[in-house]
Amino acid sequence: MKTEEQRHSQLELCIPYVFGRLNPGNRKQFEAHLETGCEQCKRELSELYEAIALLPLLLKQEAPPSGLRQRILSRLSSKRSEPPRAAKPIPQRGVVEASVTKAPPRSWYLYASIVMGVLLIISLLFFLNDQLRTTGELEKKLTDLQAQIQEKQDILGILQVQKVEILQLANMDAGSQAFGRVFWEPEKRHAVVQVVNLIAEPADKQYQLWLVKEKKYLRVGEFDVNKEKSNVFAVMTLPVGERQEIEGFAITLEPRGGSTQPSGAIQLRGATK
Ligand SMILES: [Zn+2]
Repeated sequence: MKTEEQRHSQLELCIPYVFGRLNPGNRKQFEAHLETGCEQCKRELSELYEAIALLPLLLKQEAPPSGLRQRILSRLSSKRSEPPRAAKPIPQRGVVEASVTKAPPRSWYLYASIVMGVLLIISLLFFLNDQLRTTGELEKKLTDLQAQIQEKQDILGILQVQKVEILQLANMDAGSQAFGRVFWEPEKRHAVVQVVNLIAEPADKQYQLWLVKEKKYLRVGEFDVNKEKSNVFAVMTLPVGERQEIEGFAITLEPRGGSTQPSGAIQLRGATK
């Protein structure tokens, strides 16, 4: 025996049954229930079939608002991956199909264009970063070149004066191939020191030029010899300019920044007398 409550629950299955939405198990169960001759369900079903039969008539009399069909179909197509082929026999086929077939590509295009936009922005940022770095490197190179040109002009300026003194510098180590020269302009006391084959100094050290006067070492200036520069010219100013006041020149390796007195071994040396 089935209670009234159970009959009501079966009643709720009428609508899905009419539209063929029951799974096989439920459908069998519902049909078995109908076999028992439930009056409520019979009435409900006959009313539903009548209403379904009237549906086309109702649709003809009350035209749905324009766009409703498209909205429903596009909603269906967005939920289903399969295109709604059932929509084919419906009138205004062209309009419906157009909206249905357009909708998925539009969302795909949107997605694709967002991805492309993001990729474009990322690559643009990389490009700009690269450009900025390159510009920075170019500016640094330009500054270096300008400094080199200025140095060369200073050297030429000293070498071109009418009266220029020259002193050869010899190395103190028999195994070394290093040598040097000091060119200087006595009046202005501008000097150029040229060194060849001096070993590149360690990072914490620097070569230093000394002027020897009355057995004393007078500080002239420091310069760097890196691996790229086997032939170094450094422009400096001497404490004295006249040859008779200068006993000679010497080059030592000192802590970076220079010393007030030579602390390292003499690398190159030259005497005027
Ligand atoms: Zn029933």
